[in-house]
Amino acid sequence: MNTRERYQAFVKYLQTAPAASKTELIYATPFQLLVAMVLGAQCTDKRVNSCTPLLFARFPTAGHLAKASFNRVLACIKPISYSKKKTRFLIEMAHQLATSFQHKIPSSVAALQTLPGVGRKTANALVAILYNQPIIAVDTHVFRVAKRTGLASCLAKTPLMVEKELMAHLPIQYIPIANRWIVLHGRYICKARKPQCEQCSLTTFCAYYQDNQHEI
Ligand code: SF4
Repeated sequence: MNTRERYQAFVKYLQTAPAASKTELIYATPFQLLVAMVLGAQCTDKRVNSCTPLLFARFPTAGHLAKASFNRVLACIKPISYSKKKTRFLIEMAHQLATSFQHKIPSSVAALQTLPGVGRKTANALVAILYNQPIIAVDTHVFRVAKRTGLASCLAKTPLMVEKELMAHLPIQYIPIANRWIVLHGRYICKARKPQCEQCSLTTFCAYYQDNQHEI
C-alpha cells in the first residue's frame, strides 16, 4: 500500500468514526485552557483536571495569576509533574499575557511560543481549539500512531517532521478531526507499550499490523 492509498483509507475511516472531543482537559475560558495545557506537559489530563478546579478558583485570570506568590500556586498544582518548574512558567506566562498581550490569548503559533511553558505542540493545539485553525499538534500519541500506521514515513524522525507529513497529506477539512481522533486512539487503543490491535479499526492499512500480524 502506498502513502496515497493509506491516507485515502484513513480518511474513509474518519468519515464514519465516532466524534472525538476537542480535548479531555476541563476548562471554562481560553486562559484556563492555556494553563491546563502548560500543566499537561508530561502529565496526564486526569491529574491536571484534578488540580485545576482549585487553581482556577484562586487565580481565575492572568491578572490574578501574575500577582500570585510562588508557594500559593505550587500548593494548587503539587501533584502535577515538574510542579515547581510549571509554577514558575505559569506566573511568568500570566505576567507576559497581562503586559504584552492585553490579557488575550495570542492567535498565532509564533506569538504563543513566546510564552513560558508553551512549545510548538501546545501552541498548535491552542490555535486549533480556540481559533479553529486546521493545524496538527503532534504529541507523544500522534507521533507514535502516525509512525506505527505508516501515515508518517520512516524519514519523519521528529514531531515537526511528522506534523509536516500529516499536514501535507491530510485533506484540510479532515485535519482537526484526524488530530483529535489520533490523540484518543493513541491514548486508549494504540498504547505505547502494547497496542490493542484486536480492538483497532485501522488494521487493513496499518503498517505495524501488516508487518507483525502473525505475532499479534
Ligand atoms: S493496528 Fe495496532 S499498531 Fe496499528 S494503529 Fe491499530 S492499534 Fe496501533
